[in-house]
Amino acid sequence: MEEKNKNYSKTLITNEIILTSEFETGNGRDFKEYDKDIFGFYPEKDSTDLYSSPAYYFKFKIENRLLKKQDTKKITITAIADDDKRGWEQFIGTKIWKYNLNGSIEQLNPKNTKPTLYSIGINLELKPKEKFFVSNMITIPYSEMKEKILDLCTIYPSNIKIEEIGKSPMGNSIYSLKLHPHENIWNESSKIKILISGSPQPSEFGDFAALNLLKMYLNKGEGFWNELKEYFKFQFIFFQNPDGIVYGKNMTNSKGENIFFSYNLEQNNLPQECEFVWEFIKKEPPDLYLEIHSYSQFKKTIRPYIYPYELLKSDVRKRIYKKLSKELVSFSNGAVEKIKLNEKWFSNTLAYQLQKNFDTLSFQYKLHSNLRLEENWKIIWNVFEKVIKNLRKLKIELRRN
Ligand SMILES: [Zn+2]
Repeated sequence: MEEKNKNYSKTLITNEIILTSEFETGNGRDFKEYDKDIFGFYPEKDSTDLYSSPAYYFKFKIENRLLKKQDTKKITITAIADDDKRGWEQFIGTKIWKYNLNGSIEQLNPKNTKPTLYSIGINLELKPKEKFFVSNMITIPYSEMKEKILDLCTIYPSNIKIEEIGKSPMGNSIYSLKLHPHENIWNESSKIKILISGSPQPSEFGDFAALNLLKMYLNKGEGFWNELKEYFKFQFIFFQNPDGIVYGKNMTNSKGENIFFSYNLEQNNLPQECEFVWEFIKKEPPDLYLEIHSYSQFKKTIRPYIYPYELLKSDVRKRIYKKLSKELVSFSNGAVEKIKLNEKWFSNTLAYQLQKNFDTLSFQYKLHSNLRLEENWKIIWNVFEKVIKNLRKLKIELRRN
């Protein structure tokens, strides 16, 4: 195809449209108009991380500049990944998401996408002046999620305590949220501490899912809370990698460090996000850690990531871990990922290190961006219920001395 426009930047402006990736969570470069109403671009890869070197994530904003009623535009935009033989291999059936300016998020009808190994063509219709965002994964801007969290703190002032536990290299906050902070539960070592967090992989919707889990919990109200307070204290950590979200990265932070795989505690130079999170958690380690992740690869399905139970010292904990693992696997239709002892990448995750150093029962749970949002929220709520059901039964045994 012949190029009509020699613009290699992250924004393309023609007389009729604006295409850009210059916004929070944006990812895309070299937007070009190849022919009338036919556009293409490349997803941006992380600069230094080998684990996510193939094409992965994109998100762009499109605007119809025309004003008149008859100026509805039909446009094709192709996400090109032809510089690597793997191309879009794992993502050919991936659903494409549209974010409207009113805040609603919807999946595009698959009929409007033409996926091949090296290109995903997306057909869009834009009314006059209409603009929206499009991506192949669900990503919510850091600033938007932060605002929603701060809103919850205002709505539930006596039930949430928020604390900034550190900052990213670009100065974005990492938060901890304690639930029911004024209750005695926080002084009682007999209560089981559950820590929930989103994945530090910015192109996954872990923080967004954790936020929705928190909302569902809060919506349950006092009766439900009181019942759980008998057994548990809950804490959340939000934004393990805030810069990654802001800059639309696949895996890394703003310095090109892969936060997810950087908990190599024998090294002295952890990325600063990991340092803050680890220093905070180790003051009062949780009994259980649930980290929420998501897939977008079309052959993958929801599932737990299970860490080696051999890392746990206590026999009681080993038994509970095996039982809960089994339940999560059967809930996920048998799909399972088992991390091996000393596995190259995964032995440097937060989950692995918590299980190893503090006897914390640690899981990751993978949701999927091909499912609708409500389905994902239902799944993560079910996972949460399985966690509390299993741990409740074994409260006495699990008690730390
Ligand atoms: Zn993940």
